[in-house]
Amino acid sequence: MIVQQILKSKADTGVLTLKPGALVSEAVAVLSDKRIGTIVVSESGTTPDGILSERDIVRELGKRGAGCMDEPISTLMTANPVTCGRDDSADKVLEMMTEGRFRHLPVVQDGAMIGLISIGDVVKARLAELSMEKDALQGMIMGH
Ligand code: AMP
Repeated sequence: MIVQQILKSKADTGVLTLKPGALVSEAVAVLSDKRIGTIVVSESGTTPDGILSERDIVRELGKRGAGCMDEPISTLMTANPVTCGRDDSADKVLEMMTEGRFRHLPVVQDGAMIGLISIGDVVKARLAELSMEKDALQGMIMGH
C-alpha cells in the first residue's frame, strides 16, 4: 500500500491552508468548524511553509494564556514540516510519524502539496488491506 492509494480512499476535499499572518484565533475557528486537528500554513497555498496542530495551540495556552490568540500563527507553527511523496509506502509514513512524534504529513509532488494524510487515514487503510489479505488467505485454504 502506498500514499497515493490512501489519498484515493479519502474524500477529495483538497488541503485546507492558512497564511502565516492569519491569527491563532482564526485558526482555532477553522479547526473547530471543520473538526480537524491540524492546519497547513502556506503563503502560496501550494508549498507547506509550516504546520499548526491543536497541540501547538494548547501548549501555548497552557504556558501564556489566551494572549496567544491574537498572534500570527507563524509564531506557533512548526516551520518546514516533514513531508512525504505519493509513492512512499504506508509502513514508511507510519515510521516517519512514530519517529517524529506527529500525526500528520503533507504529501508533496514536484514541489506542490497534493494532499495531507493523518495517522488515522494510514491505520484505516492498512486495516482494510490486512482484512482483504486475511479473506484471500482463508479462501485459498478453504479452496474457494
Ligand atoms: P500532531 O501530532 O500532528 O498534532 O503534531 C504534534 C507536533 O508535531 C506539533 O508541534 C506539530 O506542529 C508538529 N508536526 C505535525 N506534523 C508535522 C510534520 N509533518 N512535520 C513536522 N512537525 C509536525
